[in-house]
Amino acid sequence: MSKLYFIVGSQDLYGEETLKEVAADSQKMASFLNEQLSDTVKVELLPTVITSDSCIEQCRRASNDDDCVGVITWMHTFSPAKMWIKGLQQLTKPLLHLHTQANEKLPYATIDMDFMNLNQAAHGDREYGFILSRLNIPHEVVVGFYRHKDTVDQIRRFAEVAKAIDYSKHLRVAMFGNNMRDVAVTDGDRVESQIRYGWEVNYYAIGDLVKQISQVTEEEVNRKMAEYDQKYERKTQNLDAVKEQAKYEVAMEKFFERKGIGAFTDTFQDLYGLKQLPGLSVQNLMGKGIGFGPEGDYKTSALSAVLMKMSEGRKGATGFIEDYTYDLTPGKELELAAHMLEVPVQFAATKPVIDVIPLSIGGKEDPARLIFDSQTGDAIQVTMADMGTHFRLICADIVMVKQPEAMPKLPTARLMWKLKPDFKTGAAAWLYAGGGHHSVISLSLTRKDIVMFARLTGTELITIGNDTTEADLQKFFMPK
Ligand code: MN
Repeated sequence: MSKLYFIVGSQDLYGEETLKEVAADSQKMASFLNEQLSDTVKVELLPTVITSDSCIEQCRRASNDDDCVGVITWMHTFSPAKMWIKGLQQLTKPLLHLHTQANEKLPYATIDMDFMNLNQAAHGDREYGFILSRLNIPHEVVVGFYRHKDTVDQIRRFAEVAKAIDYSKHLRVAMFGNNMRDVAVTDGDRVESQIRYGWEVNYYAIGDLVKQISQVTEEEVNRKMAEYDQKYERKTQNLDAVKEQAKYEVAMEKFFERKGIGAFTDTFQDLYGLKQLPGLSVQNLMGKGIGFGPEGDYKTSALSAVLMKMSEGRKGATGFIEDYTYDLTPGKELELAAHMLEVPVQFAATKPVIDVIPLSIGGKEDPARLIFDSQTGDAIQVTMADMGTHFRLICADIVMVKQPEAMPKLPTARLMWKLKPDFKTGAAAWLYAGGGHHSVISLSLTRKDIVMFARLTGTELITIGNDTTEADLQKFFMPK
């Protein structure tokens, strides 16, 4: 199981007695957090940092431990921050600065200088906060008594984001083909993506997949068809078309497993050797946490995989989507989002239906796809753009809603939502920010998760929601 190391700072000026109390309090706190977070992560206490050497030792230990996804630090006493410099320079894991105390209330009747020397996080954490800021080390600050529920909840959020970052650092993305011709926003700097997020994004010829598809056995196809029949309702009589998608999925699963791949892209401009555009197969894979971006959009593919990982254990779907078209009725504006085929099945509100319908683009055989209406509720829409000098995340608060009327002729799954703070401001903000038409929707994550992810990965973030005003549009998006 993933773990967080808890490193507590003090110094050797205080003497044995005080350091014993520091260690005992710290162990009590680590045990409490370990118990509270047991469904998410283990929390383990490391020896108290009292010198530069002990700091280097503990930071190295955290950096070298593959099971460690992040580090919590806290200054029980004052801890001169020069002793933290060399250790922190060797820390490679996401860092949480927990600003807390071993005690909740001040013991007004008994407080003396011994108590003050022992319990001075308000003092020591400021010294430590300075050096984090001075060293420009990305970190998250959580403030509050460690036993309070909101403090524990924030530490849990940190654990989930840290686990997603750990996953990100190991993520491999396969691009079958390259970016769709002439499209700008789906492109990006893959070297920089690997440096910043750890994504190993590599190109594979579609022929590599076609070869794998040709080796899929009848028995494997039947097993996959049984999986589809168990999960979905089959509306079509065209079994061969469904079996074709089953073959694609079996082949992709094997390909991904062999190469340790967690996310992929394809493009309908490069399907040589495939009879159909992968649809049903991609939808079913996304339902299993595999990231996907169409038209060679590796950023959305990787981001969707990372955000799916972040949302593990929470209620509500997370996955890729494309902005398509609007209902512009004044005061009732809605966005309709979908894709040609590849809408993640985890959004389904009802049992998805498998159907085979012609695709009016691409010139291939009629593909099998899953059709369904979406779950509803408060959600976020997140996208990543490559601005040339840096990556930018854009996170918009939205409300996913039930489609107001049936759309019996729309041959694809669909999501609908309301923008915030209102349609015009929300849409304008997204456009000014350079947000593309591919994004990740999540009914389980919130802006707070994305803020933490952006901060810990050093990524620029623009948020859009009820706190976005017309004045923001006028000021924030002006050329610098
Ligand atoms: Mn698209």
